[in-house]
Amino acid sequence: MEKLSKSKFSRLREEMVERAIFARGVRSELVLRAMRNVPRESFLPTRLREFAYDDTALPIEEGQTISQPYIVAFMIEALALRGGEKVLEIGAGSGYAAAVLSEIAADVYTVERHGPLAEKAAATLADLGYDNVHVLHGDGTRGWPAHAPYDAIIVAAGGPTIPESLKDQLKIGGRLVIPVGAHQRVQELVRVTRIAQSEYRREDLADVQFVPLLGEEGIRARLTSAASLRPFRRAMLGKSSRVSWREKRPRLAEVGEFLVTYRDYRCPVQPKNRERNR
Ligand code: SAH
Repeated sequence: MEKLSKSKFSRLREEMVERAIFARGVRSELVLRAMRNVPRESFLPTRLREFAYDDTALPIEEGQTISQPYIVAFMIEALALRGGEKVLEIGAGSGYAAAVLSEIAADVYTVERHGPLAEKAAATLADLGYDNVHVLHGDGTRGWPAHAPYDAIIVAAGGPTIPESLKDQLKIGGRLVIPVGAHQRVQELVRVTRIAQSEYRREDLADVQFVPLLGEEGIRARLTSAASLRPFRRAMLGKSSRVSWREKRPRLAEVGEFLVTYRDYRCPVQPKNRERNR
């Protein structure tokens, strides 16, 4: 396979921004410039680098994905940044979107639930000199309270509801952009603006498809507390009262993961949606 040179990548990147991002309606100069600056190939496994400037999501480690460039640009434009802000991202993944954000914001705080991904993203960002990005390994549905409040929050994974912790960590006037939907194939990209201490405005922006947002205030919490889980719980734990709560907890979490897999990948899609996807 031909090894692509740095200048070839630059040209492909330039073309992609024109064809897939500007042409589809993204007009923020700050966002377009940021997209032109970040070398997406550096965030991909070597064997996939040649596809860096196809406008598609691509697989990264741990069964996750690097988001489609157009969606990254669209979501960041929806945050309405002017430059110099403090931004929180949930779902660092490869670190690519965090790099784009850091070209605009003063500081980017990003949380990733997979340890190896968090480490790798931090290393890639450091190698490229993005020293205003701070990476945390943890459950992002809880946000990152130590640095709150944020001017903007962006979530790169979708769950059934909007985590309260994230709404709490917005400044007044701050914007949260997040995919919301009970099913992975049918999510709505939503912008929530905090207009007063306990008042929020919600706008629906687009139909999207993201990997699941797992965590305390994400999919796992909702499913493990659902009544529908009882038969699974019983099957896995039995009725034995000798199992202490401390021992039960991790096993309950596994039950949650199982259901996530079941719902996201095996549930039949409603005929209406199948029609629309064609
Ligand atoms: N912004 C990333 C996209 C990664 S995909 C990029 O540009 O590459 C979404 C990521 O969200 C995955 O890596 C997944 O592990 C992560 N994720 C899902 N639930 C999470 C949670 N509760 N906290 C933190 N990260 C989470």
